[in-house]
Amino acid sequence: TYVVTEDCIACKHMDCVEVCPVDCFYEGENFLVIHPDECIDCGVCEPECPVEAIVPDVDGPDLDFWIELNRKYAEVW
Ligand code: SF4
Repeated sequence: TYVVTEDCIACKHMDCVEVCPVDCFYEGENFLVIHPDECIDCGVCEPECPVEAIVPDVDGPDLDFWIELNRKYAEVW
């Protein structure tokens, strides 16, 4: 799955949301999140993000915090 991270905070661009084929972006408290169970790993959102906040979840343990936060906010909806 792909994960939205820190740099998205307070970003108002929605380009990623528009390109996602499965509509798995949700609105978190102050940034967008990706539902980890709905993301199909297509990767099309990654280059659309102007601040490079979207990363694949393979980048290591530092991402655990963000993965959990993405899940938490995505499951509110
Ligand atoms: Fe949506 Fe694809 Fe990005 Fe996953 S990788 S959030 S399915 S656009």
